[in-house]
Amino acid sequence: MQDLIKQAAEVIAGSRVVIGYTGAGISTESGIPDFRTMGEFWEGFDPATFEVEIDSREAFERDPAKVWRFFSQALGLMEQVGPNRGHRALARLGQLGRMAAIITQNVDGLHQAAGSENVIEFHGNMRQLHCLKCRARYRWEEVKGGPIPPPCRCGYTLKPTIPLFGDHVDIEAASASEVLAANAQVMLVACTHGDIAPVNRVPLIAKEYGALIIEVNRTKSLYTDRITDYFLRGEAGEILPSLVEEVEKNLAAGPS
Ligand SMILES: [Zn+2]
Repeated sequence: MQDLIKQAAEVIAGSRVVIGYTGAGISTESGIPDFRTMGEFWEGFDPATFEVEIDSREAFERDPAKVWRFFSQALGLMEQVGPNRGHRALARLGQLGRMAAIITQNVDGLHQAAGSENVIEFHGNMRQLHCLKCRARYRWEEVKGGPIPPPCRCGYTLKPTIPLFGDHVDIEAASASEVLAANAQVMLVACTHGDIAPVNRVPLIAKEYGALIIEVNRTKSLYTDRITDYFLRGEAGEILPSLVEEVEKNLAAGPS
């Protein structure tokens, strides 16, 4: 494994355009569960009906107060947690000029909290709210402490920018991700198994345009046997810091 990490680090050190691509797994070490697969984590919600009763646009329009009970729990949890070793390692790569952008499926803002600058949130952000009627945007901090569900100035109910089932994907985030993927020399895929469409196409696009794929996952993903060039198997909180340490050694040794 250490050899493979060294090889991957050499590739990253020698590349100008490294793009990160992360999923829920990078935040689990911080104590944030995968919203969709860890339905049972949320108090008072039945995982069997979670998708229909909570995690859908239809549910939101039918009973926003009920869906907001889930959002409130999730927001409360997010206020208690911070970035972990994996987030910090990727932020460090940014400081080293070896992480031009991170495309994430996560809605927790932990990459930014760790210091990463160019973060594309493919699935929005739990703390960014918008009005489905007049499109006004608010930060959670602006409405926190007021009535729940929080109302927009126009009278409609606000919703976090995260897409529920039945919502459209944010076109801007999707096209920005495609452009980044097409221009990547290396894509560092971490903690996602590629089972959520359409965001899962991003590494495939990168590969199609010639990027090398470095993957960090505990178990094989949709990508591993298909497009991955370097599969670093293990915990992101352990692998990513070792990888970055090797990148730093490479950069300190100067151009080869
Ligand atoms: Zn409004």
